[in-house]
Amino acid sequence: MQNISVIGSGTMGNGIAHVFAQNGYKVSLIDINQAALDRALATIAKNLDRMVAKEKITAEDKASTLANISTHTDIAGGVKYAELVIEAATENKDLKFKIFGDMDVYAPAGCILASNTSSISITELAAQTNRPDKVIGMHFMNPVPVMLLVEIINGYNTSKEVTAIIDDLSRKIGKVPAMANDYPGFIANRILMPMINEAIWTLHEGVGEVTEIDTVMKLGMAHPMGPLQLADFIGLDVCLAILHVLHDGFGNPKYAPCPLLVNMVNAGKKGVKSGEGFYSWTHGTKELVVSDSFL
Ligand code: NAD
Repeated sequence: MQNISVIGSGTMGNGIAHVFAQNGYKVSLIDINQAALDRALATIAKNLDRMVAKEKITAEDKASTLANISTHTDIAGGVKYAELVIEAATENKDLKFKIFGDMDVYAPAGCILASNTSSISITELAAQTNRPDKVIGMHFMNPVPVMLLVEIINGYNTSKEVTAIIDDLSRKIGKVPAMANDYPGFIANRILMPMINEAIWTLHEGVGEVTEIDTVMKLGMAHPMGPLQLADFIGLDVCLAILHVLHDGFGNPKYAPCPLLVNMVNAGKKGVKSGEGFYSWTHGTKELVVSDSFL
C-alpha cells in the first residue's frame, strides 16, 4: 500500500496524515476548504519542528514528510488513486453517511474505506456503500503522532482479509493495534465514558471535590490525568454525545449521563475548548485551577 487519503484535516486528520507521511506513504489530505488544509499543514510543520528540536527526526525527514502530503478540496480528486481512505471528518452521522456514499463512488473498487469515528457504528457506515466487506474502523487517539494505540473496529461484514491488512498497516506506521467488534463505544469509550460519568456523579453527590477525585485516580490508580481533567480535554459535549450513544445502544440505565454533565453542556461549559469545565482554562498558566462553580 502506498497511497492513503485522509478526509478531514482537523485535530485527528492532520495527525493521521502526519504519521502516514512520516512513514513514507503518499497522503492526499482532503477538507472542505483550502484554509482548513493550510491550517493543517501549518500544524503538521510545527509538530515536525518540535520533533526535529528533540532530535527524534532530522530536518530532511521533516522535508520528506511534508513532500509526501498533497491537499485537495474535492473528494473525487482526493481519493482517485487511494488504496485506503481514512475518514476523520466532523462527528456527525448524516455527514459521515454522505462521505461514505461519495467515497464508494469515487475511490477505486479495491480501496479500503476506514473511519476514525469515536462512536458511530462501522456497520451502519458500511451500509452506505456497496463494499461493506472493505469498511473498517481505525480509531486513533489524540495526539495521533504521540499515542501508540489504534483501535481497529470490525464491522459486521468486514472481511478477515481487510482486518489483517489494516492490522499489518497499523504496525508498519509504528502503532499498536487492539481489535474490537462493532458495538456501541467499541472498547475504549465503552470503558472510559462510564468512568468519567461516575467521576461526575461522585462530584455531583458531594462524595469528593474536583481535586480529590482527580488526585485519587492519578495517584491511586496511576492514571496520567484524572477523569475530570480528561473530560475537559475531550470536551464535555463529546463525552455527553458518546454517553447517549452507549445509553441508546444498550438501553441500559447504567450509561445514563449524570445530570450535572447535561447541565454543564447546556450552560456552554464544555471544558478546554470553551475555556471552562471542571477547571478554568483561561488563566494562562500550566497550573490546574478548579472552576469557580466548584469552589
Ligand atoms: P475537527 O473538528 O478537529 O476536524 C474535523 C474536520 O473535518 C474539519 O477540518 C472540517 O472542516 C472537516 N470536514 C467537515 N466536513 C467535511 C467534508 N464533507 N469533507 C471533508 N472534510 C470535512 O474534529 P476531530 O476532533 O479531528 O474529529 C474527527 C473525527 O475523529 C470524529 O469522527 C471524532 O469522533 C474522531 N475522534 C476524535 C478524537 C479527538 O480527541 N478529537 C479522538 C478520536 C477520534
